[in-house]
Amino acid sequence: MKYAIFGNATYNQEIHNKLQAINFVPEQENPDIVISVGGDGTMLRAVQHYINQINKVYFVGIKTGRLGFYTDFLPTQLDELVEVLQKKTFEVCAFNLLEYKLVGKEHSKTSYALNDLAITNPVNTQIIEVLIDGLHFETFRGTGFLLSTPSGSTAYSKSLGGSLIHPKVKAFQLTEMASINNRIYKTISSPLVLHQEQTIVLKSSNYENVVLISDGIYESFKDFDQIEATLSDKTVSFVTKLKDDFWSRVQRAFI
Ligand code: NAD
Repeated sequence: MKYAIFGNATYNQEIHNKLQAINFVPEQENPDIVISVGGDGTMLRAVQHYINQINKVYFVGIKTGRLGFYTDFLPTQLDELVEVLQKKTFEVCAFNLLEYKLVGKEHSKTSYALNDLAITNPVNTQIIEVLIDGLHFETFRGTGFLLSTPSGSTAYSKSLGGSLIHPKVKAFQLTEMASINNRIYKTISSPLVLHQEQTIVLKSSNYENVVLISDGIYESFKDFDQIEATLSDKTVSFVTKLKDDFWSRVQRAFI
């Protein structure tokens, strides 16, 4: 088994020693398993780093931060991690990615996010036409939107009043950021949960001041006028010691 270590280097030597003792081979470029050491942000960056080979890689998180939705093991549990990897006594949780395409007049670009894509205008009122499977649903005025996956529903989406969605539900969510609602302008004002076969299109004649943040990483793409999004078939596979533990994770983190 080939492995890569990503993130905080504090435990690198210890991890190398323990994994090589069970004949695992270090391989940063083409690993079978990525060991992310840090918080959820580190895991999100590890997923982006290996996005082009996502169907071939397993991820496991060693939590050095305080809250970890994607990180199951503590640094004090390295022996346990090595044992479950050696004996293959782990569970695999597969989380679908959000797939989004930025469409410009001359170019387009397809990318993926494990948690979410934030589309925000910190300067002006952003006007966005919202289309669901071709239906013109509404004209939005406000700060922007967040598109999120079920596994991302406990992150930024939750702060925006979105629903918590079990990651086995094949859906994605659109939440508003500071919509303008008055006598003249109106939006639905509720988070929308769309199913996997649906596509949402967010069109604007002026995305100039909009900032795109994908999984906490600034996304640079100039001169686009349309964002198309859906839930991808692509998944991220996590090695976890607990079986389908989403609601107890939610309970531990928030209650
Ligand atoms: P980070 O590790 O500092 O993450 C920020 C916080 O979000 C941490 O407390 C982390 O544990 C938590 N988090 C991340 N993913 C989570 C998930 N799926 N469920 C529950 N909690 C989760 O690193 P970062 O690079 O800042 O993380 C990026 C993420 O931060 C984004 O994907 C976004 O969801 C979230 N975020 C949240 C807010 C907000 O709630 N107001 C604002 C910006 C970004």
